Amino acid sequence: MPKWPPRWIEISDKDVLDAIARVPRHRFVPAPYQQHAYEDRPLPIGWGQTISQPFIVALMTELLAIQPQAKVLEIGTGCGYQTAILAELADEVYSVELIPELSRQASQTLSELGYSNVHLRVGDGWQGWPQAAPFDGIIVTAAAPIWPPALTAQLAAGGHIVLPIGPIGGDQILWHGVKIGEDFRKRRIGPVRFVPLVNPHDELPL
Ligand code: SAH
Repeated sequence: MPKWPPRWIEISDKDVLDAIARVPRHRFVPAPYQQHAYEDRPLPIGWGQTISQPFIVALMTELLAIQPQAKVLEIGTGCGYQTAILAELADEVYSVELIPELSRQASQTLSELGYSNVHLRVGDGWQGWPQAAPFDGIIVTAAAPIWPPALTAQLAAGGHIVLPIGPIGGDQILWHGVKIGEDFRKRRIGPVRFVPLVNPHDELPL
């Protein structure tokens, strides 16, 4: 098996690398793909969705700058792998998923692995999770054409948000935003390719 996690030059946060080393990625992917779970690439998880490439998971997690007492919101639970990485680092993790079957499967895997600080919900991530806001970190693991307004509103003072923005299948950019007092500062990180953050009033992509 290749070295895990790979030695990425860009990822320097030891806590993030340790979390990636601790979470068994093969437990989150369907059986036919488990042999590829420790390669640095995305894999299909069913329902037309994918588990992100581990490098991107590490990069997005590092940008969130999670403190041990942090409350973090994830949009797009998928198979729950990124959720587990967040649960290793944060105090409480809230994660919203549109597809009930994926949420159910993620819930089972996460409880089998013993994560008790994760709260999952089936619903529309465009709305965030207002009842649990504000969040010290918000991560969106699907690409939106615009900044989802509800999410920036649910960020705590000093909170970080990391998300891909761009058209479906087109040029998407990973963004990092920080709320500083009343000020909101954002910067571009680099080009990425994610599945779309679906508007549930449209049909789900099959
Ligand atoms: N973090 C996940 C990535 C899954 S891909 C993992 O590690 O597996 C992105 C996920 O976002 C998909 O599961 C998709 O169903 C979900 N998604 C897309 N639009 C959504 C929306 N509006 N609200 C919540 N989840 C959404």
